[in-house]
Amino acid sequence: MSLLLLTTALIVQDISWQPATPRQGSLIVVSAPGAITGQFAGEPLHFRRGKALAAVPLSATDSTRLETLSIGWDGTVLGETAYVTVEVRRPAEEQVQAAERFTTPPDSALQERIDRERALSREVARRAHDVPRLWDAPFIRPRAARITSPFGSGRQVNGVWRTQHSGLDLAGRKGAPVRVSNRGIVALVGDFFYGGISVYVHHGDGLMTVYHHLSRALVAVGDTVERGEIIGRVGATGRVTGPHLHWQAQYGAVPFDPADLLKLP
Ligand SMILES: [Zn+2]
Repeated sequence: MSLLLLTTALIVQDISWQPATPRQGSLIVVSAPGAITGQFAGEPLHFRRGKALAAVPLSATDSTRLETLSIGWDGTVLGETAYVTVEVRRPAEEQVQAAERFTTPPDSALQERIDRERALSREVARRAHDVPRLWDAPFIRPRAARITSPFGSGRQVNGVWRTQHSGLDLAGRKGAPVRVSNRGIVALVGDFFYGGISVYVHHGDGLMTVYHHLSRALVAVGDTVERGEIIGRVGATGRVTGPHLHWQAQYGAVPFDPADLLKLP
């Protein structure tokens, strides 16, 4: 009897996460010994040895539901639910000037293009979950350069309130190198209305990094890229005020602060 109790106790889940009270738009590490899968903020979780990454959306409410599934000692599926307390991210306000064509309401042809490009980026975000984890070494910054705009800042474009900044901007002159922040597979390369010339890289288990406003992309879809490899050149394509790199990190469709990637063990 006591042996059975001990065995049961060992496989009962105990869900925890780090940081304990994450901010909106941040990456968390979920620990749930024995868990095989789960869900957080609408995205599936990929557990390896009881740990999984997840991202708190910028729009997350103060209590966001976390679900995990594990297989019990007798083969039954055990579901557990926890609620992650989320701290509000207080955005720094920012003024941005952009060309008129980016702020006037789009005509139907342009709206069609924008919709098509959004669908493409949603699709590539969904597929980030189909790729096995490809990285071991720590993530690096794509440029050793000054941060010109942090993640999550509140933005006014030509005086009109827009959504919060979904990436982190790094300074750079046109033509300066952009390095991929970790090993991965190039999932999408294109020239988009808002993002300009962009490279999307799958790192596996839901993680994706995106590099926008390039003057040139130096990789093609399907290429395996090694950490630090030059994948493009800084530019000013898409909705920008001048040359810089917009570096975005996503867990599935959820953008989070790319700086959190650099803190991963
Ligand atoms: Zn940006």
